[in-house]
Amino acid sequence: AAADRYGVIGNPVAHSKSPDIHAAFARQTEQALTYERLLAPLDGFASTVRTLIEQGFKGANVTVPFKLEAFALAGMLSERAEAAGAVNTLKFQGGAIVGDNTDGIGLVTDIVVNAGVPMRGKRILLLGAGGAARGVVLPILAHAPEQLVIANRTESKAVELAARFAGKGTVAASDFRSLQCAFDVVINATSASLSADLPPVPPAVFGEGCLAYDMMYGPAPTVFMAFAQQHGAATRDGLGMLVEQAAESFQCWRGMRPDTRTVYAGLRAKL
Ligand code: NDP
Repeated sequence: AAADRYGVIGNPVAHSKSPDIHAAFARQTEQALTYERLLAPLDGFASTVRTLIEQGFKGANVTVPFKLEAFALAGMLSERAEAAGAVNTLKFQGGAIVGDNTDGIGLVTDIVVNAGVPMRGKRILLLGAGGAARGVVLPILAHAPEQLVIANRTESKAVELAARFAGKGTVAASDFRSLQCAFDVVINATSASLSADLPPVPPAVFGEGCLAYDMMYGPAPTVFMAFAQQHGAATRDGLGMLVEQAAESFQCWRGMRPDTRTVYAGLRAKL
């Protein structure tokens, strides 16, 4: 039988590591599939998706800047995609387009399972209120933390995001500078690290035994990770989140979850 086709739609997409990750998953699980980089014109996301369906693709990941358009295009949404207001995984199923969001569960799996840091009963600080932050709120609340605080440079966006989850857990909003208490887990979901900037949080946010997590990854620690280390926190970058979100997408498409450990180690060695 011909291999099932998948890919990642983005613009730009040349630097995406997803094809390598999914190729490794396919080898490991002996699944017959291919996974391509799919560059869509900035004004041509929906037509790109239609072409993929015509060509018999079974699904696709969606990356910058199309996650909101993918959300709008999907005819059916998972609960976590609905909550995130963004879609990074599409499944083409008998003419229907099903949208899922695996970014948040990827982050939480990397922290709780891979780093071995539980969130139940813990104080969690989420920095940022953009696309990445939105996707992680519900998966974090599913672990019943004592408290989740969302802090953002533009405070009103943190307030809006927190309000969306009213009734689903204890979620508060803040600006950066008025943060006073200590947290067990601090997650940097701002894009500040991309420009080597630091979200201006007081060092007191890093509590005893704190894990500071940056969604960005690279060969060297980010400025945020360096700052957190100076103030006694353990740190972790976003490479594990990337691999875990891919594994969740693979599960959504193929009904099996690959082992992520060796794939993570292989990527880390090549950074
Ligand atoms: P968005 O553009 O949607 O949001 C950006 C956020 O960062 C906003 O909250 C913005 O605040 C804040 N911000 C930007 N610059 C600064 C700064 N200099 N100081 C403080 N805050 C700042 O981006 P995304 O949410 O899509 O992405 C955020 C990060 O997450 C990126 O670095 C991305 O690479 C990473 N990511 C990693 C993934 C992984 O698998 N590891 C998956 C998805 C994302 P304001 O509202 O005030 O503008």
